[in-house]
Amino acid sequence: MTQVYNFSSGPAMLPADVLRRAQNELCDWQGLGTSVMEISHRSKEFIQVAEEAEKDFRDLLQIPSNYKVLFCHGGGRGQFAGVPLNILGDKTTADYVDGGYWASSAVKEAHKYCNPNVIDAKVTVDGLRAIKPMSEWQVSENSAYLHFCPNETIDGIAIHEAPDFGDTVVVADYSSSILSHPMDVSRFGVIYAGAQKNIGPAGLTLVIVREDLLGKAHKACPSILDYTVLNDNDSMFNTPPTFAWYLSGLVFKWLKEQGGVETMDKINRAKAELLYGVIDKSDFYRNDVASANRSRMNVPFQLADSALDKLFLEESFAAGLHALKGHRVVGGMRASIYNAMPLEGVKALTNFMVDFERRHG
Ligand code: PMP
Repeated sequence: MTQVYNFSSGPAMLPADVLRRAQNELCDWQGLGTSVMEISHRSKEFIQVAEEAEKDFRDLLQIPSNYKVLFCHGGGRGQFAGVPLNILGDKTTADYVDGGYWASSAVKEAHKYCNPNVIDAKVTVDGLRAIKPMSEWQVSENSAYLHFCPNETIDGIAIHEAPDFGDTVVVADYSSSILSHPMDVSRFGVIYAGAQKNIGPAGLTLVIVREDLLGKAHKACPSILDYTVLNDNDSMFNTPPTFAWYLSGLVFKWLKEQGGVETMDKINRAKAELLYGVIDKSDFYRNDVASANRSRMNVPFQLADSALDKLFLEESFAAGLHALKGHRVVGGMRASIYNAMPLEGVKALTNFMVDFERRHG
């Protein structure tokens, strides 16, 4: 069978070792004669899984003790509502940095709860798409928080700067880049991420919230989105997505075995360098993001002759390189290369790209 590398943007590939372990223990988990999916979330066995997952996640990101980690439902979009409902307090505005598709989707949802002050950070530099440096983000006076998305999954744009906004509560949508590099959690008020890219299966959403921000949810906030309710109930106010929680826990253990987020960062940089290198060297492929804002997770690229797109997708699929079709709003191709994608997968892709160009360029 051809070795398959899955470049899906999410749900995305998971580490093969993790899938094999889950397969081995699927039908008889911990000798219980049942799967982990079929036991109570309140059983001592599952609570151990839940606690270990939280501990490993905390270790990986060195999350300070004054931050709570919540295991939620609702995905990234759930948090587009969850953030204003929990963090606005008595304020009526919040700053939203617009750097791409997902940041602007967060703005749309925020309009239901406040008057977002949109900071348009999108600029073009020498014909390339870029993001204004953080020093140029004008934070407004009565803002409850500043929201931004450090990795735009569709646009392939990343903000690599670490925020430094003093007392301003910084909120970040890390759905597509969490755990891909070390980060200083203490610079943030809230970090959230849907699991289905760099954490585990869809269905689980992680929220990291500084504890002094708890206790001020809007009275109409649904309890399952209320950080305080979730925290008071150890993320088990309602039945959590237990299988996704368990599998994410296995991913955290795998990450620790690999050397943690420092090692991931090195490998992710090497993968991105290799892929952008091949794109930049040729006139056949093109990526129009300024180098300082290029994503190391999602690499969109176009073929100079879009008439070849269909053939590129057919041939790459046949070669075991799956899910390279670009997002419908961007077109072209996109390779998502999260933590689980090994360097070999990116090598297989770049070898294919060079060969395709030789044959059709
Ligand atoms: N934010 C980002 C950065 C995303 O990539 C996505 C999903 N692709 C979302 C939010 C929305 O996530 P969900 O589908 O889990 O609601």
